[in-house]
Amino acid sequence: MSLHDLLVAQIAAHGPMRISDFMADCLLHPEFGYYTTQQPFGESGDFITAPEISQMFGELIGLSLAQSWLDQGSPDPFSLVELGPGRGTLMADILRATKGIAGFHDAANVVLIEASTKLCEQQSLTLAGFAPEWIDSIDDLAPLPTFAVANEFFDALPIRQFVRDGNGWRERQVGVVDGVLTFGLGPNMPQPALGHRLEDTKDGDLVEECASATAIITSLGQRINDCGGTALIIDYGDWRSLGNTLQALKDHAPVDPLSSAGQADLTAHVDFEALATAAPCTFSRITPQGVFLERLGITQRAQTLAQNMEADTLDAHILAHKRLTHPDEMGNLFKVMGLYAENGRPPAGLEP
Ligand code: SAH
Repeated sequence: MSLHDLLVAQIAAHGPMRISDFMADCLLHPEFGYYTTQQPFGESGDFITAPEISQMFGELIGLSLAQSWLDQGSPDPFSLVELGPGRGTLMADILRATKGIAGFHDAANVVLIEASTKLCEQQSLTLAGFAPEWIDSIDDLAPLPTFAVANEFFDALPIRQFVRDGNGWRERQVGVVDGVLTFGLGPNMPQPALGHRLEDTKDGDLVEECASATAIITSLGQRINDCGGTALIIDYGDWRSLGNTLQALKDHAPVDPLSSAGQADLTAHVDFEALATAAPCTFSRITPQGVFLERLGITQRAQTLAQNMEADTLDAHILAHKRLTHPDEMGNLFKVMGLYAENGRPPAGLEP
């Protein structure tokens, strides 16, 4: 049995599914989910993330987090948190880059939030020696200053989609026609949570909502307000989403989300306005990833690393630098938003 067949049977028995439930099953179904069964990352996987492109990404994130830690008086102990750590590469680069910062490693409790047991195993290998702790939710964090990073985590959280119809909304759902998964629209209903979107949409426009993202940001922001710390959120998306951004990727190319259930990565753009609105703490302006990395000194770091490289390795390094920062590659599509306590300083790289 495939996930597609399982979902067809489930919909036949219980009626159409919300896209959020479809996405959750596709990504994290215990038996058939994409993250639970596949090896998504890298050239041989389905997509490549910034930390997998170059060590420079994680190193600069590490230095930004460590600067915030120093700015806040080097609290000891503190939680060094990553949401959705994938293979553990980003955290490993953060830890390597901060090795020389006096007291940072001794004070840090490395805490990971990861839904896939398969990836947890990989993270424990990558981060052996740092005794990471895995928790299920931000609510389980100890009441300590919390310095957190999330790269391409929020785009994996399940969204719902609504199509405007007069002053109401019809939810986009997954149903079955002739034994095949098909998108359709539910009945017209009022959606009080989308009241503000009546101002900037017209009939037929599609908007997206991610309730789990706002819940996580609320909890993380409260922790930062109460205990200190900062968070760097890096993802593709923009300030206020409009239109259908649900996307399935397999072998580095887009595929049909319905026919590839559980076989492809499934994401949606992050609506940074929704995150900022949910944050009970202060948030920075969203900053393009290219600008953020340039402010943190990626060019100098790239030049230093290049001194010990030649031939193909050097060519690959130059391409990786360009890929992370150039506006036509990841530089503009990816944005960075910082969370920090009221009256605190914005994280390095995100100054106004
Ligand atoms: N940050 C990594 C991986 C990004 S892929 C990198 O930049 O390479 C998304 C990650 O989030 C994966 O590790 C995935 O298993 C995890 N994930 C997805 N949904 C999750 C959820 N609801 N809770 C916790 N982790 C989740």
